[in-house]
Amino acid sequence: MTQRLYLEDPRRKTALAAVSGHASGGFLLDKTIFHAADPRYRHAQPCDLGHVLAEGHKLKLDRVFWDAKGRLVHKTSGPLPAVGAKAQLHLDAPRREQQARAHAAMHLLVAALHEQLGLLLEAPAVVGGGEVRLTARFREDPRAALPRLVARAQEMAATREDVTALWAPRDEAAKLATPQDVALDAIAPEEPTLRLARCGARSVLPCDAPLVANLREIGALKLTLAQARRDGIRLGVRAAAPP
Ligand SMILES: [Zn+2]
Repeated sequence: MTQRLYLEDPRRKTALAAVSGHASGGFLLDKTIFHAADPRYRHAQPCDLGHVLAEGHKLKLDRVFWDAKGRLVHKTSGPLPAVGAKAQLHLDAPRREQQARAHAAMHLLVAALHEQLGLLLEAPAVVGGGEVRLTARFREDPRAALPRLVARAQEMAATREDVTALWAPRDEAAKLATPQDVALDAIAPEEPTLRLARCGARSVLPCDAPLVANLREIGALKLTLAQARRDGIRLGVRAAAPP
């Protein structure tokens, strides 16, 4: 099992690790700073990128992913480093920071949507470029509901509250978690404990992503897409870096 430094210390940009195996066309590490969304948590996000120095090669990461056997695989187009080789990990930090902002914004949008009695129709996702997509149904006219939703999430970000993570046994997690589209029982059902991210006072969601440390880092939110669907509306929101 790979030690996930991106959860223990989301600010970390470099690390020394060792290649611990080969799998699914790539290699495994004893520990990593590169996040790939665990599909069991249903908060999709493009994987982290960066490079790995091993055996004299600078290996640019093409992809980091969880394979079918639950292993976190690092894939590059360079030579596969030998098992046991030392590896220097370097994160593409601006990309990570942009995604961490968007991901925290996504948690606030879910909270704001619930307050407005909107319904999330599918799992929300970070799609890259600092942008979040979600599909929702609103009680009122979306032309009024959408700006209100974004404004409410922005208001939550303006509280400048801290973002923290905790691990909780499932029964405790059920008491702490705020509503989202996926039932808690459906998230990593084989795990006795779940990781929860608390984004200020109003949002506690099961989440496996490295997030910002404080809501002020989210910056300005902007509606980028509003597309009518048969049963609701598909919307995009971008989180810009604060000035
Ligand atoms: Zn999340």
